[in-house]
Amino acid sequence: MYKYSIGLLCLSILLIFSNSCKHKQIDKMPKLQPVNHTYSNYDSIELKHLHLDLSVDFEHKKLKGKVVLEINNPSNCHFLILDTKQLEIEDVKLEDSVSTAWSLGDEDKILGRALVIDLAKGTKKVAVYYHTDPEAEALMWLSPEQTLGKKHPFLFTQSQAILARTWVPCMDVPAVRFTYSADITCDKQYLPLMSASNNFKKNSLGKYHFDMPQPIPSYLLALAVGNIQFKSLGENCGVFAEPEMLDKAAKEFVDLPKMISAAGELYGEYAWGRYDILVLPPSFPFGGMENPRLTFATPTIIAGDKSLVSLVAHELAHSWSGNLVTNRTWDDFWLNEGFTVYFEDRIMEKIYGKDYADMLMSISVGELEHTLESMMATAPGDTKLKLSLKGRNPDDGVSDIAYVKGAMFLKYLEGLYGRKIFDDFLNAYFNHFKWKTVTTEEFIAYFNNHMSKWPKIKPNLEEWIYAIGLPSSCPKIKSKEIERIDAMIVKIQRDSSLKSLDTSRFTTQHWMHLLRHFNPDSVKSLMQELDTTYGLSKSTNSEIQCDWYLLCIKNGYKAAEPYMEQYLMTVGRRKFLEPIYEALTKTPEGLEQAKRIFNRAEKGYHAVSRNTIRELLFAK
Ligand SMILES: [Zn+2]
Repeated sequence: MYKYSIGLLCLSILLIFSNSCKHKQIDKMPKLQPVNHTYSNYDSIELKHLHLDLSVDFEHKKLKGKVVLEINNPSNCHFLILDTKQLEIEDVKLEDSVSTAWSLGDEDKILGRALVIDLAKGTKKVAVYYHTDPEAEALMWLSPEQTLGKKHPFLFTQSQAILARTWVPCMDVPAVRFTYSADITCDKQYLPLMSASNNFKKNSLGKYHFDMPQPIPSYLLALAVGNIQFKSLGENCGVFAEPEMLDKAAKEFVDLPKMISAAGELYGEYAWGRYDILVLPPSFPFGGMENPRLTFATPTIIAGDKSLVSLVAHELAHSWSGNLVTNRTWDDFWLNEGFTVYFEDRIMEKIYGKDYADMLMSISVGELEHTLESMMATAPGDTKLKLSLKGRNPDDGVSDIAYVKGAMFLKYLEGLYGRKIFDDFLNAYFNHFKWKTVTTEEFIAYFNNHMSKWPKIKPNLEEWIYAIGLPSSCPKIKSKEIERIDAMIVKIQRDSSLKSLDTSRFTTQHWMHLLRHFNPDSVKSLMQELDTTYGLSKSTNSEIQCDWYLLCIKNGYKAAEPYMEQYLMTVGRRKFLEPIYEALTKTPEGLEQAKRIFNRAEKGYHAVSRNTIRELLFAK
């Protein structure tokens, strides 16, 4: 029996080995020169449509099946070159029936490996059979313990910026837009969802079909699978979540229909049919991801008082800036995010009033100033709106620069021309570039042309876009509420007493500003009173918790430690994890404590968060 098993093992190893080598290799590989973070030859070959046929295997943490790419090859190029990373390619067939030669290029740590496929004359369809790696960077396989319900596993993808290639061989560059469809098979207990037309209920077969008839770039390919239920919030919008979260989420997002109509009134009709939100388990590393028709959102925005729903306004705004008009390269990322933060501010102002919107923007500008302070010392070139990310990971461009400096640039332009003229420009811009991609230089040319009707106004576009730091022309955001809190802070610190603290009409953002602007030493003697009066250590509001724990670390208030530890064990959003771990590294004891917590918590983190924190703790 023992011998027999060994023999069988050898035979199967042999079979796997021969199978992986038996396909015909490319005779002479073309020169592989990545441009804009892709190896694909998208300049020569048009990708028109992509069809996915995948089964979801939770046990082995893999997706298995095929992708069929419909192409147009007008110049009769001999090769189709696609991006892949961590993928196991099994076979490639032309027109999904004829075997062809194919080879993988050398591995690049950031870009992965090019898949070069030999084409026949007139090839219209290429099918790639493959399966994913359990460690694929875009795929987060959650164990039941990592979900809210604790009973079922959960899968979600995060394709931005260049991780789509870790679960779909494709032209993984925002310059390429294509329509897609999919057939997904999964265990009957679960409901799969995509950035496409969705089913609202599980079916008895476990097979689901999806269509995305509008062209999207690869970074918006998205899939989630789990024990998910749906609740409608209006005619064309609703929320998906684990059953334990569904009612809470529906209550928090009750203003969604209002947001959709406010956005449409500002910059033109919503172009994607439905707009639904999927609330993910807590390990999602970002606030939200604007997957078309189905925003992925962190549960950390569910505060119980709607005070963090600006994130939904942000993701919704991406339905115009980003999804409808897309940055052509990651160097132009500010065109996605700067426009979106500006748009988000306008939606918030329309629904919740100018005072509240100003307070939110004022807090964002505070964060931008903080970011600028450190970046000017370490990477001043990255404080330009137009980035230079060649040879680097495009994730390096994700900072307050693209988001808030970008938005302040648009506010500056609004101030120069007046809101009416600027809104007309934005409407024209979205309309002109819809379903297309745009570079910074095309934006400038379009802007100059459109605004030439007002030759006396001379905005300094060059300085805002190509110079480092923040121009002196940056508008000042005046917020009455922020001034009210600042006055309280002065009195509290002067008197070493909390008697001037008036928390009536306090929202999450009031607390955030207060906690961030306390001088840690000046309020050291007040920490316990603050904690017992307002229950800050025990808070369940992720934003308040983060700022409170930071203050506690800075002035050594130990009573919050068990709660902070619990927070780091359950929250996976990088925005919260990074500053807390960083603050802990400032002392040797803190660093030890951080490493101890991280070792226990990392299993629950997404690779995006895990990598950032690991670098922070172990590079020192
Ligand atoms: Zn965004």
